[in-house]
Amino acid sequence: KVVVVGSYVVDLMSRTPHLPKPGETVLGGPFKMGPGGKGGNQATAAARCGSEVTFVTKLGGDVFGREALAHFQAENVNTEFIKVDPNQATGAALIAVDDNSENSIVVSLGACGTITEAEVMEAEEEIKCGDIVLLQLETSIEAVVTAVKLAKKYRVPVILNPAPYQEFPKEILRDVAFITPNETEAFELSGIEVKDEHSALAAAQKIHEMGVDTVIITLGSKGAFLYTGGEKGDLVPGFKVEAIDTTGAGDAFNGGFAHALSNGQSVREAMTFANAVAALSVTKIGTAPAMPNKQEVKTFLLH
Ligand code: ADP
Repeated sequence: KVVVVGSYVVDLMSRTPHLPKPGETVLGGPFKMGPGGKGGNQATAAARCGSEVTFVTKLGGDVFGREALAHFQAENVNTEFIKVDPNQATGAALIAVDDNSENSIVVSLGACGTITEAEVMEAEEEIKCGDIVLLQLETSIEAVVTAVKLAKKYRVPVILNPAPYQEFPKEILRDVAFITPNETEAFELSGIEVKDEHSALAAAQKIHEMGVDTVIITLGSKGAFLYTGGEKGDLVPGFKVEAIDTTGAGDAFNGGFAHALSNGQSVREAMTFANAVAALSVTKIGTAPAMPNKQEVKTFLLH
């Protein structure tokens, strides 16, 4: 079982010929709405891969919160630990994408930004019987710290996807088995700009020294770099696909990686599986709705 503690936001997307300047109103093209947020996307990805998934988050008592619950129920995600706070709004991402695929995004975390220690503690039994705990930094840091503490108590390995990057107490890294920054987040953690395999190794060594056993830096279409100590690391190559929309690629990678690890695959096998899930996700528009299912991944890996 994979236990995801993280964010849910509704994605509200408009196409527009150009992004509005301050004070400007532009007439947009088609509008699309869908489930999103890093926690929700990763939970959806792992569930579609076939994992039993429990998602711990908080929604508002509004129409977006009700739609979110319906989404996770339809995806066979355990919603027992999704709180609803009637006094808050559900998180929302206001996304504008222009004709050059440039975007501008405002994310209001709403309810999921206020997950408390006590709310995560309610999921103690779930974490206890989990195979993997999957976390991001898109919630309150209190939620992340509590989840790490519980996972440590029951010796359940933690994957921390440090996205979007925000400051957090670095002591928790000693209790994180896997960290999965992208290039930007690896820079935030290490101070080393990641451009290629060589700089990825240097950044990974720095992050490893902070206490994480296994550092995995995702490198976009190139794949992901694995480092577990010593002089060298390994690039696990990505798959060539025609990318349509790369938003949510990191989420697909993390959801797929958590699924594969909890299924007993080796770290390297799990990274190849995660690269496949992520590659398939970039061939579709959207975040959670773009996640591939088990059969699609299986077929893709056979070719
Ligand atoms: P993020 O989405 O967080 O910025 P990356 O851009 O590093 O993260 O992408 C995460 C993973 O998604 C990569 O490790 C790779 O497996 C996959 N990926 C991203 N972009 C592409 C692409 N254009 N083609 C194939 N796979 C991709």
